Amino acid sequence: MTAPIDPPPAPGALHPDSLAAQALGWVDEATRAVTPPIHVSTTYLRDADNQYRSGRVYARADNPAFDQPEALLCALEGGHQALLFASGMAAATAVFQALQPGDHVLAPKVMYWSLRNWLMTFATGWGLQVELIDMTSVADVQAALRPGQTKLVWIETPANPLWSVTDIAATAQLAHAAGALLAVDSTVPTPVLTRPLALGADIVMRAATKYLNGHSDLIAGALVTRADSDTWQRIRKVRAQVGGTLGSFEAWLLLRGMRTLHLRVRAACASAQRIAEHFAAHPQVLAVLYPGLPGCQGHDVAKAQMQGGFGGMLSIRAAGGEAHAIAVAARTRLWKRATSLGGTESLIEHRASVEGAGTPAPPDLLRLSVGIEHVDDLIADLEQALAR
Ligand SMILES: *Cc1c(COP(=O)(O)O)cnc(C)c1O
Repeated sequence: MTAPIDPPPAPGALHPDSLAAQALGWVDEATRAVTPPIHVSTTYLRDADNQYRSGRVYARADNPAFDQPEALLCALEGGHQALLFASGMAAATAVFQALQPGDHVLAPKVMYWSLRNWLMTFATGWGLQVELIDMTSVADVQAALRPGQTKLVWIETPANPLWSVTDIAATAQLAHAAGALLAVDSTVPTPVLTRPLALGADIVMRAATKYLNGHSDLIAGALVTRADSDTWQRIRKVRAQVGGTLGSFEAWLLLRGMRTLHLRVRAACASAQRIAEHFAAHPQVLAVLYPGLPGCQGHDVAKAQMQGGFGGMLSIRAAGGEAHAIAVAARTRLWKRATSLGGTESLIEHRASVEGAGTPAPPDLLRLSVGIEHVDDLIADLEQALAR
């Protein structure tokens, strides 16, 4: 068993960086190893008196490989319990699958594309009433809530691919007054910059594929809850029974990635801020979308609910339209043309091509995921790609 061995410092005595760097300081009891072993067993021995005192029965539901990464996530989010999933989508959809047919849910018009797609096809097909609204407007949220019938408000902030900002605390208050839970897709800010549970959210979802792991080499997701609830117990059952369970090796890789989370996120934030400022007044750039720029939507809210930076994601709108935007992406050498985000390597993507009809992305928009390369190299590469 990997477990805390030395008496841990008093709760709250350590900064989150210290908790992450040592993955809570757990040590394997059998070997004194400072990194955990990888357990691959799918099944666990039943005691002779027919009990399961280990607390584990079968690996679709229980896996010792989850204990340490889930405990670390819980500590970083300030939550009651965490659950790892086989992907960010498996985590997000588990929240909706825990609801009942006929339940009303609010979700943003601007959000992670695959989830929006799933909501408007499968979730509605199963009888959820999904309403997409402008989550940047507190008044719109208030008007759309149906007290007693709205069971969940889903938000994402800053939201793909326009980096629109939603006020977590204000939305939580409205949702709770109407008897609904608030869930936040907080993949982009990571727990380094935003802790939605402390702002009143009930559940936080993270695509661990992105910054938490940070090396573009595994697909994983996580949910963390502020408190136990009927909905949370149903979410646990969805994972155990539907089986969107993470593999042991992936859980181990994720824990390794999280040890450097704070370093990577701070580096990406600092570079993203510099890139945003550099290209804000560039003649070949129509607009820079980044919550860290004073003129951008939601800057003041972001300043209040994000600590230490505005994230590593931004978008630029190329002057000269769609064809020019695609040509700019084609000319980059250091920036890699690929989807996804949150890795050590910087990525550039023409979002409208990916999202297709109905996308909120203007045709000239290029989404940038800033990695941890030297910022001067990233700026120089974009400069040469933008030059006509
Ligand atoms: C990637 C991503 C997801 C989905 O995560 P997967 O691990 O790819 O399933 C959800 N939300 C956001 C904001 C993402 O970036």
